[in-house]
Amino acid sequence: MTSELQDLYQELILDHYKRPHNQRHLDDADHQAEGYNPLCGDRVSVYLKLDGNRIKEVAFQGAGCAISTASASMMTDALKGKTVEEVRELFDKFHALVTGRLENPEAGPDLGKLEVFAGVSQYPVRVKCATLAWHTLEAALEQRGGVVSTE
Ligand code: ZN
Repeated sequence: MTSELQDLYQELILDHYKRPHNQRHLDDADHQAEGYNPLCGDRVSVYLKLDGNRIKEVAFQGAGCAISTASASMMTDALKGKTVEEVRELFDKFHALVTGRLENPEAGPDLGKLEVFAGVSQYPVRVKCATLAWHTLEAALEQRGGVVSTE
């Protein structure tokens, strides 16, 4: 990756950190969960409204570092209209990307802008920041109670 492209990617992350998308409470959410990353102090709540098996609305609230906030923001953008099954496939691929285990980038769902988090794989501590919102989303879908911790 050229440094120019890296700068561009960082700019997209900073942009979502400064102006997060879908950052609000969802009053009529039918699924929700809270996540906490003690390593960094990131906190996130994820709210979902499902229409059958499809995500109709998704929003989040929380306070965290640039990576965790941008990841939550971009996750909510990526999820709208997807089925629960598609969401799980996307998370699997995203998780492989940020942990540096993505063997075939062409296989599976299109990560789109989520590819900006590829650089995170070089910073193991940041992997938990990048995946916090996704782990919390998974808990919301499974309706698990309590706070999800990355530890
Ligand atoms: Zn963090």
